[in-house]
Amino acid sequence: YRLIKEGQTEVYVPTDNDPDVPSASASVFYNPAMEMNRDINVAVTSVYAKKLAERKGFDKSQITYADAFSASGIRGLRVSKEVGIAAVLNDWKEEAVSLIQKNIDYNNLQETVTATCMGADKLLHGQKFAIVDIDPFGTPAPFLDSAVSSASFFLGVTATDTAPLCGAHLKSGMRKYAAVPLNNEFHSEMGLRILIGSIARAASKFDKGIRPLFSHATRHYVRVYAEILNGAGNADKTLKELGFIAWCPQCKNMETKNGLAVFMNEECPVCGGKRKMSGPLWLGTFKDKDFCNDVISKLNSLPLNKKEEAIKLLTVCRDEADIPFFYDQHLLCEMLKISAPPMEPFLESVRKAGYIATRTHFSGTSFKTDASVEIILDILKNQS
Ligand code: SAM
Repeated sequence: YRLIKEGQTEVYVPTDNDPDVPSASASVFYNPAMEMNRDINVAVTSVYAKKLAERKGFDKSQITYADAFSASGIRGLRVSKEVGIAAVLNDWKEEAVSLIQKNIDYNNLQETVTATCMGADKLLHGQKFAIVDIDPFGTPAPFLDSAVSSASFFLGVTATDTAPLCGAHLKSGMRKYAAVPLNNEFHSEMGLRILIGSIARAASKFDKGIRPLFSHATRHYVRVYAEILNGAGNADKTLKELGFIAWCPQCKNMETKNGLAVFMNEECPVCGGKRKMSGPLWLGTFKDKDFCNDVISKLNSLPLNKKEEAIKLLTVCRDEADIPFFYDQHLLCEMLKISAPPMEPFLESVRKAGYIATRTHFSGTSFKTDASVEIILDILKNQS
């Protein structure tokens, strides 16, 4: 084993784990590329745990975090040590649990952290945790039911099966998420919204709703942090945030409609082309501005290796408009056979025309707007 340090926590990780190509076949999994994800997880959990403790009058140590797919234990250990809450670290692999125990002992966290060795479903079934985190290999879909039923207040979900989520592996995505994705220029946001939609549907089975407080798509994974809202009324409200999108591949016009059964014409109202339909997916917001601000302040106050990167991501996410999906400016310019203008002045001219226009964390060449594609194309033509 070798000792590594993330945040304020040191843990042992196996030496057979190639840091450049982390593999599910290593004796115990550790991916250094997920350090920013774990940095953000610490800050998010810290902000949420503080709010929860204040709201419920809990002592922080009464809040328990279930890291259901723990591997070396690094995620849950960091949360316990850096946030100061209790944690259960679980993995179904005995080798992983031995390493988790070694790491608990090394960090002197025996009083607040427990290691368990079982299937994640078994851990979560019938047992409640304030905060549940699921970070499996690939798709979280088979574990969403047990995770939402177990989480009393808060849920973190990582999905690394971006190809099924984003429509690149269409049939696999349909099987896992019972939704039809679109594999186009906004496929990364498609993946995030399909995942949140599927968490919402899982929650509604248990008469629970969800409120995403922060979510992002970064490189090869999608991550969602959602508050759990108990009660059938909250489940009903949550389901109203689901819907469909009709998108025209020819002219890029898009239209969304909330509901689980909707009528939308196949014919594009702008160019008469044949639109593609996608859904059901989450059409509501995937972040809360105040929560993002609190997380940014928290990140600022912590000694973290990936602080700058994490704050940049949180800031772009916070500021991106709550409008489903985006236009890729370079693609629109290709359609018009013009060169792409600089982004900021272009966004400013869209705003001057009376519309919302922001960057998006999903893509550096893209923007979110409430203007129709026709208006955007006119503005681009005028700028060239
Ligand atoms: N959360 C870890 C981190 O941040 O470093 C990484 C977890 S790794 C992606 C997934 C882990 O889940 C592996 O250690 C694997 O042994 C374990 N695992 C896979 N399927 C499982 C299941 N059904 N129940 C419990 N553990 C499982």
